[in-house]
Amino acid sequence: MLGPPSSGKGTQAVRISNHYKIPHISIGDLLRDHVDRCTEYGKKAKSFMDNGQLVPDDLVVEMTKKRLAKNDCKKGWILDGFPRNLTQAKKLDKFGKPDVVLNLFIEPTELIARSAGRRICTKCHTVYNISSNPSKNEDVCDQCGGELIQRDDDKEEVIRHRLEVYEQETQPLVKHYVKRNLLKSVYGGGGIDAVFQRVLDAFKH
Ligand code: AMP
Repeated sequence: MLGPPSSGKGTQAVRISNHYKIPHISIGDLLRDHVDRCTEYGKKAKSFMDNGQLVPDDLVVEMTKKRLAKNDCKKGWILDGFPRNLTQAKKLDKFGKPDVVLNLFIEPTELIARSAGRRICTKCHTVYNISSNPSKNEDVCDQCGGELIQRDDDKEEVIRHRLEVYEQETQPLVKHYVKRNLLKSVYGGGGIDAVFQRVLDAFKH
């Protein structure tokens, strides 16, 4: 799945995962989990993530390759947050060539507004938005009762930098996958259900 920060990649990836019964693999979630557990990967990744930069390719490539090799991925997977540059895309072609690449696009002003309202569960990583998709009780996850927080990298300064990184590093992948005839572009604006319907329609054509 391609799409800038806050385009709704994670939310739509969960829907796709439930619909097609394939695992949702969020590289950002895997990395945050490593940071929380202070693993070697986590220690190396933390400062890059805090600054809204990409974590070095070797680390994320190795982590993604290991994850896709697990049994639950035998019948497919939805990968969210990888690849994020051309080097990663070329590596992915070797160990997990995608059948379809979904590109969620949306206006930059909407992305900033969404990031400001985004809250994430510290335990199960479910994502909410205080205006468009709030939890029933403020700061408490509906799914597991965990605490909801704003990610440090969703603060406005960092998100602006993440958007620049996206433009420079990840946007070129659109061309890469158009050339390979794999890209389906879907407008990510509006409600979650409406976007998901567009995603399903795009998969049919
Ligand atoms: P996300 O949750 O997908 O927005 O990712 C959060 C952060 O994790 C990013 O801003 C990067 O610092 C890091 N990250 C996630 N996926 C990758 C990747 N494929 N390559 C490098 N860094 C990544």
